Amino acid sequence: MMAPLLEVNNLTKRFDRRLPPVVNDVSFAIEPGEIFALLGPSGCGKTTSLRMVAGLESVDSGRIRMGGILLEGNGKPVPAENRGIGFVFQDYALFPHMTVNRNVGFGLRRLPRDERRRKVRRALDLVGLKASAEAMPFELSGGQQQRVALARALVAEPKLILLDEPFSNLDAVLRETTRVEVRNLLKSTGMTTLLVTHDQEEALSFADRLVVMNEGRIEQTGTPEEVYNRPRTAFVSRFLGRTNLIDGEARGCMAETVLGRIRLDRTIWGRVLVSLRPEHLTLRPWDERANRPPGVIVGRAFKGHDITYRIRFPDREWLVHTDNRTQFQTGDRALLAALEPGVVLDDPPDSVAVSTPPEPAEIAAGA
Ligand code: ATP
Repeated sequence: MMAPLLEVNNLTKRFDRRLPPVVNDVSFAIEPGEIFALLGPSGCGKTTSLRMVAGLESVDSGRIRMGGILLEGNGKPVPAENRGIGFVFQDYALFPHMTVNRNVGFGLRRLPRDERRRKVRRALDLVGLKASAEAMPFELSGGQQQRVALARALVAEPKLILLDEPFSNLDAVLRETTRVEVRNLLKSTGMTTLLVTHDQEEALSFADRLVVMNEGRIEQTGTPEEVYNRPRTAFVSRFLGRTNLIDGEARGCMAETVLGRIRLDRTIWGRVLVSLRPEHLTLRPWDERANRPPGVIVGRAFKGHDITYRIRFPDREWLVHTDNRTQFQTGDRALLAALEPGVVLDDPPDSVAVSTPPEPAEIAAGA
């Protein structure tokens, strides 16, 4: 394994002495060329973490090291402008009265003209905007403006790029295409990137690895697949998508639950809290010979390629996400079955209310 490009150890920051730290003992490491995301709800401390990495916010304690150089941690922070870090923020912050060319070249004013021109041209080429070099920012779409901001960050040849909610000002369609373009571009240049976002889908589709933050702390670090499929806590499982939480009595790799005996993703004994994603469950027809009472379908949302059902049992409701061949109608009786092992969470079973996922509006009425 390569040495990490950025290493953050035990980073802590408190703005108000009477409150818990807004960034609390945060550690992570980013490999060269990796796209890494800090994901979490508003106020969880991700922007403050990013600003400390950038050198825009002082650090209370902890260490930040980049390429083996200590940026923070010995009481002599390296100034932001000497860190070799580029930024792209949510609001692009392009100079409105300057052409794209001049916006991108702004930070290179001290270089000889020819060298500056060459670098600006290369950066604009990279983001696919060479033809817009003489345009003014207002003549460009939001996605194009965001690519100019990226070119402006890349032109300085930073070792690390920080992206703070860079796509949140774009409408849904543009957001998705810009995200794909920017990701391909960062990957083609081998740029190491730290993204901050509160958008789960964005983090899951954009990052190679991510941390999920909650109230200043890291809840989990992993690849998108790991954190989605193997959430360690109820917070992570709910923050990354909808899930059904159940408790059960574990005996090794199985547990007795209200669904009957289910497989678990690890070996454990005693009472456990288990997460089952809607797409890891399925429905089976019920008949008199079944040895369990049926549930009743109370909601159904057909979305073309898939269907989301809500099924009611006497004690609670469940969400089940199936392919479009699993056909039940509202009012049908059905049995629930787990297709994948239940994921055992670290939370003690009584610490989290076992519940049905939030009602998706479209199936509330049993449409
Ligand atoms: P958002 O997505 O809403 O920006 P975030 O996860 O990035 O959320 P931060 O911006 O890091 O969160 O803020 C974390 C907490 O620190 C918040 O409660 C915020 O009010 C507080 N905070 C941030 N900056 C300051 C500051 N300069 N002075 C005092 N409190 C601050």
